Amino acid sequence: MWQSLHKKENLMKPSEKEKSPPPSDTQIKTLSRSVAPSRPAQLIEPILVEDYPLRARSEFFHNLTENVLGQPYQTPIIIARGRHAGPTLGITAALHGNELNGIRIIHHLLASIDLEKLHGSLLCAPIVNAPAFALGQREFADGVDLNHVFPGRQDGTPSQQYAYAFRKSFLPDCQYLIDIHTASEGRINTMYVRADLQSEEARRMAMLMNPEIILHGRSGDGTLRTAARNKGIVAITVEAGNPSVFQGHILYEGEQGIRNVLHALGMLEGDTQIHRTPVICKSSKWLRTTCGGLLETHCSLAQHIPKKGSVATALDPFGNIKHVYQAPFEGIVIGMAANPVATAGTRFCHLGQVGEPSVRASSADLPVVVS
Ligand SMILES: [Zn+2]
Repeated sequence: MWQSLHKKENLMKPSEKEKSPPPSDTQIKTLSRSVAPSRPAQLIEPILVEDYPLRARSEFFHNLTENVLGQPYQTPIIIARGRHAGPTLGITAALHGNELNGIRIIHHLLASIDLEKLHGSLLCAPIVNAPAFALGQREFADGVDLNHVFPGRQDGTPSQQYAYAFRKSFLPDCQYLIDIHTASEGRINTMYVRADLQSEEARRMAMLMNPEIILHGRSGDGTLRTAARNKGIVAITVEAGNPSVFQGHILYEGEQGIRNVLHALGMLEGDTQIHRTPVICKSSKWLRTTCGGLLETHCSLAQHIPKKGSVATALDPFGNIKHVYQAPFEGIVIGMAANPVATAGTRFCHLGQVGEPSVRASSADLPVVVS
């Protein structure tokens, strides 16, 4: 064997060896090939409810950007069109891939609606961030928080392009949007709503969800809600419980809240039911530990805490008190860390600052949202 190889090598002329040196790692030979038909990289089809039948529920996967195999990332879409004319309410969930309650809120809501009585359409994306959902994680496939990169960019990073494609697909036909989230991993939340309280319609929609707390916010924060609001869509974010679980009471409250919105919009007959007076917060702050150790918390969700009230005590590994954390302002507990083990810098309490935002339009006798 050795001999035959040696002989073969000797047969090759020196000039032939020089002509074809081995390629380097960066010099990959181009093979001739036919061009496979493909769709343009960013051919984004807006989802228009009028393209789907009345008095029917349509389910399909909608193409967004492409994965490493050149296959489309697809997000599931459900369109429920009523018998009667009316507005389109968009409902989104799992924009963070491990936030599951909203998915089942959408399922339960749609299962309970009689399309013969519905005015308008429900346009639902139960798993917005399908790549993250498939990976069982919060962030998009590139490790980025998708709700920080809206409105997205057509020529941006993977998450920016996905956000761009989703926005261009989903928002054009929405007049209203409810974006359902949960706490992030390792944290627990009250049932609360984020909304621009300077918009009377958003305020009204937030109240109709019967949350424990409404947190004001309107800054350009890269969220889907802000992207929707910038398109003139009345939008709120519902923070529905905890991640990676289905919580029965949260599913019930979420479904009832959206049903309330449908009543107020005139999409379903029936009376709205406000059974809670939510605490209004003009802002909020995540309190962070300044030392490592074990945390004993002295508060619970939705608890009011006075300024300088004790929030948590940090213990060293021997059980000695290292530090007592106090509330920097009078507030209400919106969310908390579930894990008592903390390094310095760990977020452990989401404290809402109670009160109306400083500048806002008149709130006297809030109008019912009617399209
Ligand atoms: Zn979220």
